[in-house]
Amino acid sequence: MSDTIFDKIIRREIPADIVYEDGDILAFRDIHPQTPVHVLFIPKNKSLPTLNDCSEADAPLLGKLLLAASAYAKREGFAENGYRCVINCNRGGGQTVFYLHVHLLAGRQMPERMS
Ligand code: 5GP
Repeated sequence: MSDTIFDKIIRREIPADIVYEDGDILAFRDIHPQTPVHVLFIPKNKSLPTLNDCSEADAPLLGKLLLAASAYAKREGFAENGYRCVINCNRGGGQTVFYLHVHLLAGRQMPERMS
């Protein structure tokens, strides 16, 4: 079984700047923010290394991750202006931590092109 840095954050073995938590989801600030707002949303109770490991049964959880991100954006007051949600999958997709997570990026104008 893998034990990633995010497993350790969930178990409070290493510190993180947690901005939201509920029964299913934990959200905390990225340690190397790429934008003024850079928050990671992760499932708390199910360890899925990548998006490829999700099945139909995980559809509600994936929906919850995205809804938690949009709710955070609304609460923080930047939803109307806009933000970006990203899931990197595997090395070729830029993934470095193999624990499923959604990046919420905001606080500056995002480039219209993804690359
Ligand atoms: P990935 O590249 O896998 O999509 O994103 C992993 C993200 O996790 C990166 O943006 C990286 O900065 C962040 N990260 C890596 N280690 C830590 C850590 O120990 N704490 C926090 N808060 N973020 C981390």
